[in-house]
This record gives sequence, C-alpha cells and structure tokens, in this order.
Amino acid sequence: MAARPAPYLDDLNPAQREAVERLDGPVLMLAGAGTGKTKALTSRIVHLLVSGKARPNEILSVTFTNKAAREMKERVGRLLGQQIEGMPWLGTFHSICVKLLRRHAELVGLKSNFTILDTDDQIRLLKQLIAANNIDEKRWPARQLSGLIDHWKNRAWVPTKVPASEASAFNNRGTELYEQYQTRLRELNACDFGDLLLHMVTIFQTHQDVLEQYQRWFRYILVDEYQDTNVAQYLWLRLLAGAHKNICCVGDDDQSIYGWRGAEVGNILRFEKDFPGAHVVRLEQNYRSTAHILAAASGVIRGNEGRLGKELWTAADGGEKVRLIGHWDGEEEARWIGEEIEALQKGTRGIRPHSLDDMAILVRASHQMRAFEDRFLTIGLPYRVIGGPRFYERLEIRDAMAYFRLVVSPDDDLAFERIVNTPKRGLGDKAQQVIQHTAREFGVSLIEGARIAVEEERIKGKGGGQLRLLCENLARWRETMLGPVLRPGEIDGDDPTDVIDDEPAFVVGGTRRGRPRVTHMELAEMILDESGYTAMWQADKTPEAPGRLENLKELVKALEQFENLQGFLEHVALIMDNESEEAGAKVSIMTLHAAKGLEFPAVFLPGWEDGLFPSQRSMDESGVKGLEEERRLAYVGITRAEELCTISFAGNRRVFGQWQSALPSRFIDELPEEHVEVLTPPGLYGGGYGAAAAYGTGSGLETRAAEANVYNSPGWKRLQERSTQRPVSQPRESRNTIIDLQAVSAFEMGQRVFHQKFGYGEIIGIEGDKLEIAFEKAGTKKVVARFVHAETD
Ligand code: ATP
Ligand code: MG
Repeated sequence: MAARPAPYLDDLNPAQREAVERLDGPVLMLAGAGTGKTKALTSRIVHLLVSGKARPNEILSVTFTNKAAREMKERVGRLLGQQIEGMPWLGTFHSICVKLLRRHAELVGLKSNFTILDTDDQIRLLKQLIAANNIDEKRWPARQLSGLIDHWKNRAWVPTKVPASEASAFNNRGTELYEQYQTRLRELNACDFGDLLLHMVTIFQTHQDVLEQYQRWFRYILVDEYQDTNVAQYLWLRLLAGAHKNICCVGDDDQSIYGWRGAEVGNILRFEKDFPGAHVVRLEQNYRSTAHILAAASGVIRGNEGRLGKELWTAADGGEKVRLIGHWDGEEEARWIGEEIEALQKGTRGIRPHSLDDMAILVRASHQMRAFEDRFLTIGLPYRVIGGPRFYERLEIRDAMAYFRLVVSPDDDLAFERIVNTPKRGLGDKAQQVIQHTAREFGVSLIEGARIAVEEERIKGKGGGQLRLLCENLARWRETMLGPVLRPGEIDGDDPTDVIDDEPAFVVGGTRRGRPRVTHMELAEMILDESGYTAMWQADKTPEAPGRLENLKELVKALEQFENLQGFLEHVALIMDNESEEAGAKVSIMTLHAAKGLEFPAVFLPGWEDGLFPSQRSMDESGVKGLEEERRLAYVGITRAEELCTISFAGNRRVFGQWQSALPSRFIDELPEEHVEVLTPPGLYGGGYGAAAAYGTGSGLETRAAEANVYNSPGWKRLQERSTQRPVSQPRESRNTIIDLQAVSAFEMGQRVFHQKFGYGEIIGIEGDKLEIAFEKAGTKKVVARFVHAETD
C-alpha cells in the first residue's frame, strides 16, 4: 500500500490526513464549516478502496440528501481517477433503509413489495381512524396526530415503547391510535417514511442473526452531517457499528438545523460515551471562505450558548467584506439582486466575473422565492430552484390556482377534479364517479355534471349539500369576476369615484357588463376563504402549515402585478412551460436548509428581517432554543460563501395589498462591524426617496406612513450611521418601473395634463398611482397616472 502513489492524501492537511488514515476504530470529526469534513470523508472512502480494506459494497456511507450522495460518488470517482462500479450503500438514511427493509420486510409483518405512503395518504388513513374512533376531527385534526406519530418514530418509540409521560397526547388517545395506525399499515402492506428506520431498528433489535449479518457486511461506516441525526438514526448506526466499531462520523454542532424535525445535537456528545476511546479529530482551518466572511459568521454564532466552541481560521486574505443592504420592499430587493447578479456576471463591480453557476440565493422561507422567480423570468436570467418544487409547483399553490382556473374557465375539468374534495367535502371516489358519469351522459363539463347530479339527487346527503354549495360558489365567483350585468341603456361608471381607463361597459358572451366591483386580488382572497381552503391550512397543525399559508398570501400578492386573473394564469402557464431544464449556467435559489454542505463563490442572503429571519415562531417561543437554531441557520448561510456574501433586508413587505413594515433582523446587529460594508440602498440617497414612495398601489398616505415608520426605525438609523454612503449602482438604467412611477411623483395639484382618452384637464387629487382630474370635456374622473401626460405647451 505504502508503495502506491496516493495523490488524494497529498491534498489533505495533517489533521484531515489523520482522520483519513485511521481506518479502524471509532473516529469523530468535529469541526466548523468549510474545514474539509466532507472532503476528508470522501478521501476516506477512497483510501478504504485503494488500500484494499474494503470493497465498494462493504462501505456504508450516509449523507443528508440525495444530491450530496450523488456528489460524493462523483468525487470518489474523480479521486480514484476512474468510475467506481457502484457504491450501493452510499445514500441517505431513507434510501438505504428502503433497500434493507425490502429484504427483511416479513420480519415486521410486511411483504417485500410494500408501498411507501406519502403524507397525503398518511393523513387520509389517520382521518379514517379518527372517525372510526368517534373522535371529533375538527378538534383533533389528523395532521396533529401525524406530527405526533412522526415525532415518536424519530425517537424510535414503537407503540409499546411510548413513555407514560406522553400518555395524555392527543386527548389521551395518541398511543392507542398510533397502535391502530401501525396495524392498519401492516394490513395495507404499507409503511410511512418514519417506519423505514423504525422497522430496521426493530429488526436489528429483535433478530440478532440479521444484525450480525450486516455488522459483518458493512465493515466501514461513514456519516456526514452527523449533527442532524435523530434518535432512531442514531440507534440504527450504533447497532450496525456495535461489533467492529469502524465508524467515522463528521459534524458541526453549530450547523445543527433540524431540531424541529427531531434531530438531536446531543448525539455528538453521546458518541464519545457509546464508543469509548473514540478518536476525536478537530479541524480548524477553513478552506472555503475569505477572512471577512469567516469572521462575520463566527461573530454571529458566538451569540449562542452551550456550544462546543471552535475557532476557525483561514489562510485566505481578507477579500471583500460582507455586504449589507436595506431595501424599500421585497420587489426592490429582488430587482437589485437581479442587477447585482448581472453585474457580477460581467465583472463590473470591481470583482472578477462569475458564472451564474457560482451564485446562489439562499432564503429562510420558501415563499420568498416567488419574487426572485418572477423577476428573473422578466429579465431572462436563468435560474434553478434546488431541493423543492418551484413556487408555482407547490401543492397549495396548485390547489389555489385550480380554483382560479375554474372561475376563469369553468370547463377546466382537471382543475375541478383537483379541488372538488379539497378541502374535504365528503365527496369520495363514489361521488366523484357519479359526477364523471353524469357529465359524460349529458356531454357537459364536470362542473355542469356536478350541478345536474345534485339537481337530480344522484348525490345526496352531506356530500350533495357541499357539492351544491361548491357549484353555487363557483358560479358566484365567476359572476363577481365578470362584473354586474347592465340593463339595456344602463351605463356603468357614472360614479365619479370610479377608476375608468376603459370603456364603461364590457360585453361578455353577449351580455353587457359593468366594471367588476372587487379587484381580482380581493376576488382571489374571497375564493380562498369562502371555499374553506385557507381554513383547511389554518386548522392544520403540522410544521409545514404556516409556510403554506405564507405561500398563499404570497400568491395573492403576486396577482397585483397583473390586470386580472386571466393574465396571471397565462403568466404562470408560461413559467410552467419554461420548466424543461435547459443546459447552461444558472443561478441557484434554495432554502438555507437545503444549502447545507454546499458552497458557492457568491451568495445572496435576502430577507434578514425580524419575523422572517429569525422566524416569528422562534421569536414567540419562550426560551432561546428556537432562536439559537435560527442563529445556526444564519451561520450555515454565511459560511456557504467563498468570496462574496451579500445580506439584505426589505423595510416593507406587502401582505394582502397592505404594507407591513419590518425591522432589520437582530442577527444583523450581531455581524461584527469591521467585517461588514453597508451599501447605500437605492432610493435612500440620491433623490430616490420619491421613487420609492411611489411604488405600489397603496394609497399615498399609507405609503408615506410606512416610509416614516421604517426610516425612523432604529434599524434604519443604525444602518445609516454605519453606512459608508457609497452609492451602489448608479446610474440605474434598467429600472423601468421606477421611471414609470417617478412620473407619478412628477405630478402636482393644479397641473394641466392630457389624457389619451379624455383630453385636457386639471389635476384636483393625487392618490397613489391614481389621479383625480377635472377634464374640460369629460367631467371629473379618476384615472391611472400611466395614461396621463404633463401638458407642456
Ligand atoms: P460544511 O460544514 O459546510 O459541510 P465541510 O467541512 O464539509 O463544510 P468541505 O465541503 O469538505 O467542508 O470543504 C470545503 C472546501 O474546502 C471545499 O472546496 C474543499 O475542496 C476545500 N478543502 C478542504 N480541505 C482542503 C485542503 N486540505 N486543502 C485545500 N482545500 C481544501
Ligand atoms: Mg460538508
């Protein structure tokens, strides 16, 4: 072995090398971000193979995501200088356990072709059980029970092992229902995600022969991101490594960000107890980031207590300071980041040109992605969303859009199928078949089929009543969207408060209609509320539910940029059409959680506002646990950056068309000043104030109130004090919206103007982007400023 060249060892520092070469016995590598833990782990696999200690199928290596597993396989191949013939046991806990469980399913009462339930199936099953037990599902929702069962499974508690202290859970019925659920799963030859691990742990605990077989088989075990393992995963590892103890775990307590999903950072501490004599390797040199970035990250994480405490250093020079910038609102933030990305691409910021592949935007909450996706589509900037569906592909967004589609085009049968029983209306498969048959029999759409089926009492009872209500609602929402029917000769728009920039009456399907009485945003909210869809998620007790509600709000917000629902739906259809992955460089957008273990030369961290990051939930919690996890997330975010890290926040976010002002994140205060450069927000200096104020469609007063509020906030003051007053991006050529809206602020009372349709007039009122004008011929009207020109005679 010693005689063979080992270039992969030459790339390592002494501490890493030690971790790589010490193949036998337990090794714990505990080190901060970017210190080469994953690199060492990969080299260790190579070393096992090259030294002939193990064949590829004798190495069990666990990564946190499938993406990480793929990357590790590639890296191993590269280091070996050849493609490896499979590493069958390199994957996530779940992917490895599925394979194992298929081999031994009968030991836990399953067949090897068992199905794995997704969350929807799981909920459906739990609902049936809850009903069968005569429990009121409204008070005791299935999602709550599913969360509870997941939690127990993460702790490796089978029904009989759930401790007495949990007996009161779910109205004292939790354990009993858990037991019934497991029985039912077995009858269905199915299991859920949590079972994959739990069953394997059970098998190992109860079948010594099977355990021994795998202990012999997996001669070497390696685990990345060890800080995020839960108890069940930990037990599984401990059982497998129990005999030979050739286990190498690498992790960083400062990057433990899955506590909310049952991960236990205490597993790291337990390691030394369970594997006495474990060799602990500490790495302190960071190879990823420049000194400023590293110092900023260290400054933030220092705010946490009870850390194992590690100091990092880098040989890299200072580089660029971490850049910090505040924006007027979320749209401005997205616009600015888009421009920065284009500038970085060209290398016009005094920073070397970067490929789009080298840039990433890391968000705290997935709903933040929407503004970036829309902006990048508008300017044609290629992007990809990693680790989750893109905004418009999310479950709740597709559901909501199905409602909108159905209101715009009642013949959209696919949309109808999607929402007919979402939220649950007691319309099961049977009722839905009746609707289908009726529609086919009469040759009509499903909505129409449903209406007839109710009319003819083909569907009766509660389901029938609910279906009738749905049909009536859909018809009513459509009427609302189309606007009131006008009687012959009747003219809409006589009311001087009306905004008119179109004909006073529209002809729809031969019927003259007046202008709709509610905006399409209001209509969208109405649809989501009256259909019970919003309430469905409000009643939901799973950790994802608040995020889904946020996404729905974000959806309504997105509508503002469009003239009507139809225009919006077309826009989304185009986005979805864009779906096919084209080759070429792309900016990555992902959540901070999904960014774990990754690195990018340039990283943008938007939305650093209290309530968003740290999340409201973590701030409301008593104690610092939640807040500390958020801080670790901030640390993960900053340490993803190699050369350039830009943190930003918006002073306002618009929620349901209302301005909500936010304070800069408390984490911003924790960034050490000497490593941060505060950039001047566009619009704050250089006369852009008015432009910022003219944004949006809120009334001028509202806007100004929000402005006063934010600019007087302690956060802004601090930022101004610290600002280097260096204007960031001037001149700003590409800001069409602002130029447009700046025009608004150019108008003043009493000014003589010309309107494309109504001719000359004088401004007698200004409200947001609307002007009230006394026209010489057409009388007094309120019009959208866009259509008005200043009269310069
Ligand atoms: P994280 O905690 O974020 O997962 P990590 O500790 O796993 O980080 P790696 O991703 O393995 O760190 O390494 C970070 C970067 O440093 C990579 O680009 C890697 O190639 C580089 N690197 C690691 N060790 C060395 C070394 N000894 N010499 C040069 N570069 C190194
Ligand atoms: Mg890593």
